[in-house]
Amino acid sequence: MVEKMEEFDQEKVIEEFETLTKDAERVQRETLEKILEENGSAEYLQSLGLNGRTDIESFRACVPLVTHQDLEPYIQRIVDGDSSPILTGKPITTISLSSGTTQGKPKFIPFNDELMENTLQIYRTSFAFRNREFPLENGRALQFLYSSKQFKTKGGLAAGTATTNVFRNSMFKKGMKAIQSISCSPDEVIFGSDFHQSLYCHLLCGLIFRDEVQFISSTFAHSIMYAFSTFEQVWEELCNDIRTGVLSSRINVLSTRTAMSKLLKPNPELADLIYKKCSSLSNWYGLIPELLPNAKYIYGIMTGSMEPYLKKLRHYAGGLPLLSADYGASEGWIGANVNPKLPPELATYAVLPNIGYFEFIPLRENIEDQGHNNMESSFLRMEPKPVGLTEVKIGEEYEVIVTNFAGLYRYRLGDAVKVIGFHNSTPEIKFVCRRNLLLTINIDKNTEKDLQLSVEEAGKVLSEEKLDVVDYSSYVDLSTDPGHYVIFWEISGEASQEVLKECCNCLDKSFVDAGYVSSRKVNSIGALELRVVKRGTFQKILDHYLGLGSAVSQFKTPRCVGPRNNLVLQILCANVVKSYFSTAF
Ligand code: AMP
Repeated sequence: MVEKMEEFDQEKVIEEFETLTKDAERVQRETLEKILEENGSAEYLQSLGLNGRTDIESFRACVPLVTHQDLEPYIQRIVDGDSSPILTGKPITTISLSSGTTQGKPKFIPFNDELMENTLQIYRTSFAFRNREFPLENGRALQFLYSSKQFKTKGGLAAGTATTNVFRNSMFKKGMKAIQSISCSPDEVIFGSDFHQSLYCHLLCGLIFRDEVQFISSTFAHSIMYAFSTFEQVWEELCNDIRTGVLSSRINVLSTRTAMSKLLKPNPELADLIYKKCSSLSNWYGLIPELLPNAKYIYGIMTGSMEPYLKKLRHYAGGLPLLSADYGASEGWIGANVNPKLPPELATYAVLPNIGYFEFIPLRENIEDQGHNNMESSFLRMEPKPVGLTEVKIGEEYEVIVTNFAGLYRYRLGDAVKVIGFHNSTPEIKFVCRRNLLLTINIDKNTEKDLQLSVEEAGKVLSEEKLDVVDYSSYVDLSTDPGHYVIFWEISGEASQEVLKECCNCLDKSFVDAGYVSSRKVNSIGALELRVVKRGTFQKILDHYLGLGSAVSQFKTPRCVGPRNNLVLQILCANVVKSYFSTAF
């Protein structure tokens, strides 16, 4: 059965986007006015002495830059059920939990109808551009969507991950239908209580509807890569289910089982076909187009901490294009990918000027100001000078500051982005990294991106042996004197001592930050240590986060494990099988 497509006027959506971005400065001013008018009665804004003023200058003069920590006492009162206007004019009734992969624990963030509307606007916008380049036919999407548990806070507010709040919103289905993104899996799979069972059923639904599937997606690309590596383990069982029309006994969540049993009918021809296709593949290369012959592309966030999965994803994708989805956070959306033809490594996001008021802290200037002492904390202590959306400069890096319709004012998102160009007068930005994911011991300073580059470089040594880094993380070990970097690797097979020693040296040498290199030379930073962990270790980390109530849809492997993330560090350390120290310096 093919879902009937709702009216979607692609050219109109594109035109609206063009109009908004042609006069981004005015749209920003009006958006701020609207936010402040709607929320002027909020205690937070009142206490800052805005006195009803809604202009940019007064806003910047009265309202300080804040982090989540600064707003926590206000948010906590909302969570506990205080329905007075605290951060917003209208009471907040829903709370989002951020993935929490950075800090080790999820953060509470206000969610409301405006954020939902922004979500749909961004989906519509990028879809319009995407569909112009890669038109879909009528059909379905194989979407690896997972909802976390929704619960009530002490004060009775609904709480769940931001993606869960979006998926459960009454506007979601309608919005997805309009952009031809109806999932081939029933709700009972998306909202199923067991992630592993939901994943199995998503795969099964993909096979059942294989001729209809037009694209494959998930929020973050990790889920797609993970789904197809699970397929490698369960494909025969899936074939068996299709052959007999009887669902595997591994699915024991009743609602999921009932919904799936309705879809599953004995189909030996399909089972034979899939069996034959899988058996003829070489190392699963091109698996996705073999299974889903009408798929046009693979879609999900593929930048930032997702880049390390692109290699594996491309392997499964064969020739199918990989298209990066948009840029946002539980705190709100920022930009849409309006250049879908660019490969994920080059993907940029055009900021939508009407979904929030955006400011940008220039990073270079602030870094130079800081000297080299304890950079991160001095960076956060000093008062940075942000610029407006249309004042950013091409080639510069910035930290993103968000003011939105859901009670965040001049909120430091903690992401570093680089301006690549402009779409009309709105910037097109590239995600660089999370700012607080830093490896630092003394004068060295390496970000998530530096780590990624170093792992990529050392991964080439491994590739020569036909092996890959499945996943990785890092931490700074200060228990030795001097302290040193530790990189954890999970590898796709067995590598020899020599190769791993070479990889370890290569990792050490590939951190090119001047502070690191000079410290290594004089041994004020010790030799880098590569610790190889057992297969399945990163799966345990994923399970750990799921146990905390986080959703797979938002999962990002923590690339740098800080002291606050002790449990993840324990998992990593408990699974180390081999360790090597660099002799590169
Ligand atoms: P969450 O904490 O789950 O709300 O995740 C939000 C964070 O995910 C953002 O602050 C970014 O660091 C990251 N993120 C979101 N979208 C993208 C993207 N398109 N590219 C890279 N990173 C992203």
